[in-house]
Amino acid sequence: MLHIGCHLSSSKGYAAMGRQAVELGADTFQFFTRNPRGSRAKELDPDDAQALVALMQERHFAHIIAHAPYTLNLCGAEEKNRTFARETMADDLYRMEFTPGQLYNFHPGSHVGQGIEAGINFIADGLNAILSPEQTTTVLLETMAGKGSEVGSRFEELREILDRVHLGSHMGICLDTCHVSDAGYDIIHDLDGVLTEFDRIIGLQRLKAIHLNDSLNPTGAHKDRHAKIGEGCIGTDALARVVNHPALRDLPFVLETPNELPGYAAEISLMRSLSIT
Ligand code: FE
Ligand code: FE
Ligand code: ZN
Repeated sequence: MLHIGCHLSSSKGYAAMGRQAVELGADTFQFFTRNPRGSRAKELDPDDAQALVALMQERHFAHIIAHAPYTLNLCGAEEKNRTFARETMADDLYRMEFTPGQLYNFHPGSHVGQGIEAGINFIADGLNAILSPEQTTTVLLETMAGKGSEVGSRFEELREILDRVHLGSHMGICLDTCHVSDAGYDIIHDLDGVLTEFDRIIGLQRLKAIHLNDSLNPTGAHKDRHAKIGEGCIGTDALARVVNHPALRDLPFVLETPNELPGYAAEISLMRSLSIT
């Protein structure tokens, strides 16, 4: 069965997100660990977290994804920015253990003119400072569109980061369909070729989740503007091939399309209707 959900607001707490996901026909979801701009996180209620864990078991949810604030930059030029990213992510990972065994996704960072190599080094150093052998959470590097000085729009860059992280078994990749298309990978006409390249450079066993988005811009545009399913340059047929691909179809798929809840429910139902399993 297709595992699919959408990005949800965490403002009403953990169990409320789980119930909302069920109402939308979802069996996974994503949420921001705190305000996406990176301010303080709300106090975590262990009972609320436990209620979500129970609901997820009862409803046979796939893994859920916590998304780090997108303003964090492990490879910022100023040390105080890198330190802030590390401390925030370390706190997020502590909180993640209240919902054991789930996924924590983050944007690798922007090298802001220091160069890709320097960026990759800072990102790996940051991860090495905050990962612990005991953690049950898998940390995911998100594939990026290559806007500005973003690190992680090429599979080679992601592989280099993984190679430099000591606790590599706690790391994986989240592939964003809008971002990889914007980065220049032709998932519209050659999904097989893109996945073969992913497998050769990173290894498909490292792929743990998919962000399912259409893109307002054509392949290689480096813009990162998400579109609703079927209303962008990727299109419904190509996205249906993504959810049905044998190498991908067991992964959790999360919509980050510009929708309110009814729009998400409709896209979840559409993708389920197009799923061949
Ligand atoms: Fe993201
Ligand atoms: Fe994404
Ligand atoms: Zn994006």
